[in-house]
Amino acid sequence: MAVAKLAGAGAPEEAGALFVAATPIGNLDDVSTRLTAVLERASGVAAEDTRRTRKLLHSLGIRIAMVSLHAHNERSRIPELLERLLSGEDLVLMSDAGTPGISDPGMRLVREARQSGIRVSPLPGPCAAVAALSVAGFPADRFHFEGFLPARRAARRARLRQLEAAPETLVFYEAVHRLTAALEDMQQVFGSERRAFLARELTKIHESAYGETLADLCRKAASGTIVPKGEFTLVVGGAGRSGGDEAALESVLKALLGELPTAQAARLGAEIAGVPRRVAYRRALKLHAREQKPC
Ligand code: SAM
Repeated sequence: MAVAKLAGAGAPEEAGALFVAATPIGNLDDVSTRLTAVLERASGVAAEDTRRTRKLLHSLGIRIAMVSLHAHNERSRIPELLERLLSGEDLVLMSDAGTPGISDPGMRLVREARQSGIRVSPLPGPCAAVAALSVAGFPADRFHFEGFLPARRAARRARLRQLEAAPETLVFYEAVHRLTAALEDMQQVFGSERRAFLARELTKIHESAYGETLADLCRKAASGTIVPKGEFTLVVGGAGRSGGDEAALESVLKALLGELPTAQAARLGAEIAGVPRRVAYRRALKLHAREQKPC
């Protein structure tokens, strides 16, 4: 496999390249053959956690020198890594799992390497956000990647309020111990009927998926149906988009309920407004009940 080794403008002819390598988010078989080939030739790895990366390299049968590069030492590590790259070494940047720089360290090294004229090349592969989005069944022609929300409730709600009207599909990373609180806040801010998809342990043995509205997810989190263990990525429909036109639903249902039984009106209403049937059915029941009440 030929790996081009062209230095960027401003770097010496003999400069090496920085490869930004995606690694598995669970399933070790997701290592690309290109990653293996580059690792076999490279001079070293800059790893977020050298112990974790050592396990991956061991499974590939690769022995290579490593230095740690994490959120707390990235700045101080950069000069020595740039020097090595400029003197002709090829280095591979790896985070614990997935794609470096995506809610992970690496951005500063990449920026400074580019500024020094060093060639920076991706070895693309797993990314939890993209993997979740690819199986969520939500529009992804445009999406907003939010990553981790603030840990404190007030700040989290404030951030969610800023996202409330965003029409794009939203993608969040969330730690297991904050999952229930984050779902509750989303339900509060986005509304209980907003469509949502929760991916757990993607690519691993216990991979599981839950949907289909925030209310469902809150119920499932509270009842323990969502196993409170492992890694989670949450995909939430954009306002009035992947959630269908929920504003239109009410007027469509009102018209249909005058002519059809509730279940039929809900089925048709869901199709016309582009919302899940369960959402339309629940709304239809409410409207029906309202109509039955004596004035
Ligand atoms: N850079 C990584 C990427 O490209 O996916 C993300 C790193 S971020 C520190 C880790 C978060 O990604 C986890 O807390 C979780 O929200 C999400 N995540 C990672 N692996 C996952 C998996 N197998 N299934 C679901 N979500 C996952």
